[in-house]
Amino acid sequence: MGTSPLDRIRVVLVAPLYGGNVGSVCRAMANCGMSDLAVAAPADLDLNEARMMACHATHVLDGRSTFATLAEAVADCAAVMGTTARRGLYRQHARTPREWAGKALEAAESGSRVALVFGREDKGLTNEELALCTHIVQIPSDPRCPSLNLAQAVMVCCHEIFVASGTFEPQTEKSAEAPSALRERMFELWESALFEIGFMKEDKAQHMMLGLRRILSRGTLTEDDVKILMGIARQAKWAARNGGQPGPE
Ligand code: SAH
Repeated sequence: MGTSPLDRIRVVLVAPLYGGNVGSVCRAMANCGMSDLAVAAPADLDLNEARMMACHATHVLDGRSTFATLAEAVADCAAVMGTTARRGLYRQHARTPREWAGKALEAAESGSRVALVFGREDKGLTNEELALCTHIVQIPSDPRCPSLNLAQAVMVCCHEIFVASGTFEPQTEKSAEAPSALRERMFELWESALFEIGFMKEDKAQHMMLGLRRILSRGTLTEDDVKILMGIARQAKWAARNGGQPGPE
């Protein structure tokens, strides 16, 4: 059993027709930290095309398992999530990938295997195949063109699960948010620089400085940001006194 719940998510492709799509599926899976690919009832796939589209995810392609039927491909899976672009009979309980992502993760975290099942490029999944599914997933799309490319449908579903898993940590700002005292020193410096370069006169100063405060408080100012802004003000003051010549570094 893998250590990450994502290791227990299996993407099952039912009778895919195009090697290129299978390769793109591998890449999408690897982007989302998944590697368990099963192919049920495959036709003669163009593996060169698959390898080319898999790019850096050939390990997913090479590690795929092959089954004669969908039933065999999902035999060891507790939750079986079938995807469909169509509406209608047997599909009323369909939910979006975002709505099912938590459920899929919950099952995988508890140690169960979860299958995400995708249909043929031309005909999707049959009603018999959908009947094997415990959950139905529908990706929201324009009703005039509801059907996504197979690999793109895989990407949308896997990505929702990946995001919900919290695996990805966004980069954090290295410099701390500037404290009030530092910001105030910067505003003093800017005020005197703006006087010195002749940008504002006493009567407009208060109005202008409030405007500057408003602009700069719209985002987060880090200590590094404030230091840059102070450097600009110091240089402006220096240049004003030295006839606009470039100042010392
Ligand atoms: N013409 C087929 C669509 C096949 S698209 C049909 O009418 O069913 C290939 C596969 O991509 C589908 O079987 C499904 O697994 C997935 N897919 C495409 N669009 C989707 C959508 N909007 N929601 C969920 N799955 C979708």
